[in-house]
Formats: sequence, structure tokens, C-alpha cells
Amino acid sequence: MLCVGGIHGNEPAGVKALQRVFDYLKKNEIPMRGTLVGLSGNIRALEVGARFIDRDLNRAWKPMRMEKLDILNDGCAETLEQRELLGAIRDAVNGQQGPFFFMDLHTSSAEGEPFACIGDTLRNRRFARSFRVPIILGLEEQLEGALLEHLNNAGMITMGFEGGQHDAESSIDNHEAAVWRALAGARCIRERDCPKAKEADQLLRKSCNGLPQWLGVRYRHAVTAKDGFAMRPGYRNFRQLQAGEVVADDSERGGIPANYKARILLPLYQGKGTDGFFLALDIHPAWLAISRWMRRLRLDRLVHFLPGVRRVQGGHGQKALHIDRRVARWFLIEIFHLLGFRKRRIHGEHFLVERRKFDLKGPPRIKL
Ligand SMILES: [Zn+2]
Repeated sequence: MLCVGGIHGNEPAGVKALQRVFDYLKKNEIPMRGTLVGLSGNIRALEVGARFIDRDLNRAWKPMRMEKLDILNDGCAETLEQRELLGAIRDAVNGQQGPFFFMDLHTSSAEGEPFACIGDTLRNRRFARSFRVPIILGLEEQLEGALLEHLNNAGMITMGFEGGQHDAESSIDNHEAAVWRALAGARCIRERDCPKAKEADQLLRKSCNGLPQWLGVRYRHAVTAKDGFAMRPGYRNFRQLQAGEVVADDSERGGIPANYKARILLPLYQGKGTDGFFLALDIHPAWLAISRWMRRLRLDRLVHFLPGVRRVQGGHGQKALHIDRRVARWFLIEIFHLLGFRKRRIHGEHFLVERRKFDLKGPPRIKL
């Protein structure tokens, strides 16, 4: 079980929570299987309490960059951080037998209930299901170069966990609960041996009263430094928006409305960052069951016979599908999500999807 806190340096709650877990494990004899490794993410940024020094460390794990990381000499603090962090992750993984679990602990600038984010593989879903918090699918699809996605593609079972607001004491409690829950979910500890695991369930359950368990991200509002983007006050995670509701302003367009009825996630109330806000829709559990069966039957192998869909070579030797929406007009991206694909690129009327790796089964070995 590998946990990283503070990959964003203004989010120390995860690091503090991991420290608490290690302290407790040291003081109490809890029977445990496997190994727990906790790492501080961006140490230089944590020291000054900034999201990052030169660039966002959690957008730096793109395959192209990873290939030349060892020889990269760009004077960026985060390049050094990334090399150190990758080295520590390799040390944690090498010589160990799987399965490998990865928890990435974050907090946000807006207030709101804790929640988890996973890449939509059946292995990740199975792990996430026991967390009594809302679980968001598809957030990573909107972000390029997140560590979570890198480790997920390497075959780890992964989860991102948002503990709450950056400076709230409750965020540390939520992260601590998430780590205990993860250890129990990965069967490293048994609930009956560890009172902390049971308390963790109660805490998480209580903090998320009345929220749906599964949501899918459908939209990311991207911003740049020169947009003059500002959220309107008072939005917290999961707040239900009406179609057309103006949630933010920028210097070019003025008011920015939500395009449809949805819940808002991660509204940006801090200086640094390129994600203005996300919109998510509730997912009915029946859809998850349907998609599980579709994937087990490997229906994804048949979709390229459909009109407007053809097989192409994706990035890094992955098989991908090219979809012409003018022909496959009735085809929605949701169908591909159900079948376990991940959206890669959109060019006007065409888009590319790739089947997620290690959906049903992990690799024999993790290569990083
Ligand atoms: Zn973060």
C-alpha cells in the first residue's frame, strides 16, 4: 500500500494523516499483512506551503516526459522532485509482490465533503466500493499527467482521495480515515483487529450524508493565468447547479454559466491552478452493473464493427478506436465508458478512445 500526501505543496493534510497512521502502528501491535509506504510528494513546495515551485508536479507524469526524465535538465524544482519521488516509488515497489495499491491524498481550496476519484477499471471499482464516500469516475480523463494515472497504467489499483478544505483540521481526520479504510480494503489489516478501521468507516459515512455514491465527471472548465477567472463566492463541492446558473466570471466572456444541470466539483478559490471547476452527474448503480457485465463479456472487442468506428494505433502501442461522430451519430462517449474505454482526444467530429489497461486483471509485474 503506497500513499502519497502533499504532491501539491499547499496540501499538507495528507502528510500529517500518514504520520498519525505510522505513529499509531508503532504504538499498537496491529496484525498486518503487506507493507505500508507513505511518501511526501512535493517536499520543496511543502516547505514553503505553495502548490508548486515552478510547475505542477501532479501534471508532470506524461509518457513523453517520463521517457527523458533521467536526463532532463530544465532547472525546474519539480523535475528534481519528480526524480526523487519516482526513485522512492521504485524502491517501494521493487522486490515486493503485488497486488499494489496506491492512494493519492489531496485537499481542495473550496469547502465540501470528502470524496474519492478512480480511473474506471473494475479492479479500482471493487477497491473503492467499500469507501462510504462519493466516488467520482472520469476526473483523471480531464487531466493530463497525473501521478495516479501513471501508476494506474502501470497496473496498480489506484484511488485519489480529496479530504476537504486545505487548512481544515477535519481534512487530516478524513485522510487518516481513508488510509485506515484503504488498509482494510486491501486486506492488509482486519477490521476486528484494528478499532481505527471501524472508526474510519463511521467518520466517512457521517461526513457524506445524503450524497450519491457514484458520479461521473462530464466537463472541465480550463483556465489560464490571463483569463482573470474568478469563482463566484459560496460554491462548495457537490452543490447542485441549475442549467444556465452563472458560477464564475472571467475578463473575456463575463459570466460563465453551467451548461446543464449538474453538481459542481473542485471550484477554484486559489491563485494557482488551471482547473476552474468540474461538472459531474450522478450515476445510477444499475449502469455500473450493466457495464461490468459488458466488460466481462468483452463486448469491447466487437465495437469496431459498428459504422463510423475503426481500429487505429494509439499512444505507446495501445490499441485505440477512431470514431467519426458524423457516421456514428447515435454513439455517445458514455457507451465507450461503459465498455471500459478512456477518451483520449477530440478533433471536431472525430474522437479517439483507448481501452483502459488492467481493467479485469493486473499485470504479473509492475514496471516503472
Ligand atoms: Zn491536490
